[in-house]
Amino acid sequence: LVSRKARPEDTIVDINGEKIGNGEQGFIMGPCAVESYEQVKEVALAMKEQGLTLMRGGAFKPRTSPYDFQGLGIEGLHILRKVADEVGMSVVSEILTPQDVEEALDYVDVIQVGARNMQNFELLKTVGRVKKPVLLKRGLSATIQEFINAAEYIISQGNDQIILCERGIRTYEKATRNTLDISAVPILKKETHLPVVVDVTHSTGRKDLLFPAAKAALAIGADAIMAEVHPDPAVALSDAAQQMNIPEFNAFIEELKVFKGKL
Ligand code: PEP
Ligand code: MN
Repeated sequence: LVSRKARPEDTIVDINGEKIGNGEQGFIMGPCAVESYEQVKEVALAMKEQGLTLMRGGAFKPRTSPYDFQGLGIEGLHILRKVADEVGMSVVSEILTPQDVEEALDYVDVIQVGARNMQNFELLKTVGRVKKPVLLKRGLSATIQEFINAAEYIISQGNDQIILCERGIRTYEKATRNTLDISAVPILKKETHLPVVVDVTHSTGRKDLLFPAAKAALAIGADAIMAEVHPDPAVALSDAAQQMNIPEFNAFIEELKVFKGKL
């Protein structure tokens, strides 16, 4: 059902009026993890200033080590919703288990399924049965076909509001945190009718590569760019090395707006 053959026209995902997949290239930005109301509010206000409405932020964090910050959980979702309502934003946040999906529906506008859960089939089926857009991230070592099959699990349950997210894959290369598979973007656009987003933060893991990676993603046809922003990345509880601060975020968005105009 996700294939172009099944549906030749592009699927446009509508998030409170902000559309992904309609040909305009947007942004999904926000902190790696929700840490406090003040932190989220500061990022939201900066985003608002740039005309952005899609705010990401992790409340449930799938950390590689059990001793790392695991997120604020439901309290994090409360913070995201409160800030989003105050500032006029939509919330994109990861849900880790099928049991948490129902409660999350009151707080999030887009359910994120993270890389580590791309083949959590029960979670995929659960988010396939709800009426909320789903942002599905590519698994750490998933092939494009496995990624497409994961999206098929969601759509098979009735939900076609799916955004695919290329976030880098595991290779032998150590210069970047993951290897951004840029060719996945046109392949996914060709093989499926779903919008495709590129997460430049987790794919590169390097602040100095965020802008070039985003330019490449826009040039190759990505429907949106995802990147992380934190008011003070040095003290961030996760991904401290690659989150942008607010001035860096402003420069990033402004330069990319100019770049988009040249495409
Ligand atoms: C995230 O976007 O918050 C995240 C944890 O990314 P990924 O699932 O791609 O590692
Ligand atoms: Mn992160």
